[in-house]
Amino acid sequence: QLADDHVPVEQLLRSPLQPAQHAGLPAPAALYGNSRRNSAGLDLAVPEQRAPLLAAVAALRATGVPAVHEAAAAQAAAAMATLAAAQHAWSEQPVGQRAAVLRRAADLLEARSAAYCALLAVEAGKTLPDAVAELREAVDFCRYYAAQADERLAEITLPGPTGERNTLRLHGRGVFVCISPWNFPLAIFAGQVVAALVAGNAVAAKPAEQTPAVAAAFTALLVEAGVPADALALLHGPGETVGAALVAHPLCAGVAFTGSTQVAKIIQRTLAAGDGPIVPLIAETGGLNAMVVDSSALPEQVIDAVVRSAFHSAGQRCSALRLLCVHEAVSDGVIEMLAGAMAELRLGAPGELATDVGPVIDAEAHAHLSRHVARLEREARLIARSPLPAAHAATHIAPVAFELAALEDLREEIFGPVLHVVRWKGPVEALVARINALGYGLTLGVQTRIDSRAERIARLAQVGNVYVNRNMIGAVVGVQPFGGEGRSGTGPKAGGPNYLPRFCAEQTLTINT
Ligand code: GLU
Repeated sequence: QLADDHVPVEQLLRSPLQPAQHAGLPAPAALYGNSRRNSAGLDLAVPEQRAPLLAAVAALRATGVPAVHEAAAAQAAAAMATLAAAQHAWSEQPVGQRAAVLRRAADLLEARSAAYCALLAVEAGKTLPDAVAELREAVDFCRYYAAQADERLAEITLPGPTGERNTLRLHGRGVFVCISPWNFPLAIFAGQVVAALVAGNAVAAKPAEQTPAVAAAFTALLVEAGVPADALALLHGPGETVGAALVAHPLCAGVAFTGSTQVAKIIQRTLAAGDGPIVPLIAETGGLNAMVVDSSALPEQVIDAVVRSAFHSAGQRCSALRLLCVHEAVSDGVIEMLAGAMAELRLGAPGELATDVGPVIDAEAHAHLSRHVARLEREARLIARSPLPAAHAATHIAPVAFELAALEDLREEIFGPVLHVVRWKGPVEALVARINALGYGLTLGVQTRIDSRAERIARLAQVGNVYVNRNMIGAVVGVQPFGGEGRSGTGPKAGGPNYLPRFCAEQTLTINT
């Protein structure tokens, strides 16, 4: 039985777009068009903004997350044909109209912030600050790609000889398959789908099996905002069957995938196997992200950056810090301070304000991480572990740090709150070369008070995002375009100016006049 002040989340997800519905929210900011501001989100310190969110979490806990219907491989194939038939009409709409649909989607999402944040907390186990940050990112993706579409996808007239008119046009490629992960079930799902749509593609979206409800809600929102219902299909189910059927389909004209390096390679092989067109893959995958701390670094700043980067979001970000490389001269002090900070982290339920670290996504992840930690307990030196309340032992992994003998001991991405620490000495160039040799290339943190060294490390590092003297997670749309190289992905960077054109085909039209 719901208390009177608990508006059912189903209803909140359908609430009309009226300023009165914002319940204490700031008015939607004009983003990227005029002011180039990112969305405001919800301020959890303001009671009028916090209250609807806590009420939505309570309501969703009471009712449970809405169930979805799983597709079969045959349905996935049928959807591809329907989408292909609808794509041309959508692509023929002026780009400004498609961009307007994205802006309306952003407004709707902002108006329903509380309901979406509640879904993120309850379905995906997000802490409330993480849920709010993710909601903002999703809103930003919609508005940023709308602005980018206006700027970058318009027809260009090129200079040419007299008597000839040359024009370059970008248009949708066809049906784009978008496969998204559970760790950003709203922001990454939305980012891929709206980018593909605004570029003029029809979209077959396959969200992670762990987080279908938030994807279903956002898909309905997009149709409400004006995406033709036949140009967007949502197909729930396992990657091995539904995802594989979409990617292998002859009408698949492009794939946007965020997930593991291993699955990206499977997709690449599938795309290469067909004898039809050469189908592009846009992949954002894992990282073995390091932070280089030199002997000049400010220890307090290092600890703040490490705790946020390694343990916030329970380490379930592809950008998260996995490998802390501390200069020998300062290593004892930094390690001691780190242990102190880890003792303070509070593990708790996702929807509660006091929680610093929430659960890991599911039992399978819990078991996998537990095995990795057990192995490190035998093979490495334990530095510190955050307290794990008994009530959370089955769902949470306590943030933990181990010292390794050599950074090469870490070979694979560990997707959780497990930090590996190594001490280094000698030239920093040699350290960066060893980090590069791991083969990933997503994020790198640098902590130094010597500006020229930060600059030098950034030039040597083969990574997509370098963060100097701050944490290394939470790239902001339009501000820190995000994405890696090597085993970490193909580019282009999400939330950056080069993203949309990769979803397009180009045509040069030359007319003899
Ligand atoms: N964009 C996110 C960040 O900067 C990470 C995305 C991911 O984990 O896939 O933290």
